[in-house]
Formats: sequence, C-alpha cells, structure tokens
Amino acid sequence: MEKKQYQLGDIVQMKKPHPCGTNEMEIIRMGMDIRIKCVGCKHSVLVPRTKFESKLKKVLRSNANQEEETT
Ligand SMILES: [Zn+2]
Repeated sequence: MEKKQYQLGDIVQMKKPHPCGTNEMEIIRMGMDIRIKCVGCKHSVLVPRTKFESKLKKVLRSNANQEEETT
C-alpha cells in the first residue's frame, strides 16, 4: 500500500465527519503537528501527524496533482 500523500492546502476527508456535518478539511499548517480547518464552519484543530494520518480517509483535492489529470 502506498503511503498517503498530502500537502499544505489540500482538502482532505477524515474518517469521522466534523460535528457540524462537514467532512472536508483543509490543511492549513504542516509541521510536527498538522492544523486542519473545517471547510464548513471554519473551525480549526491541531492534531499530531500520526493521529492525522490514522484519521485521514482520503485526499479529496490536492494542489500538486495536476500531472495526473486525464485529458
Ligand atoms: Zn465544522
């Protein structure tokens, strides 16, 4: 299995939706900890990288994947 690829500015989907009902989070800071912001209610949370990776379901939109476009 490939390791999940994510980077700053990506929109990701977590295994559990945010309490507001939105399941899209934007990565707004990367470091030892990762800060993600709920797209729906703009609430942001800081989570340790390992925890983030275990809760990450998939990357919905990435800044970098333009070369993978099928045209
Ligand atoms: Zn929310």
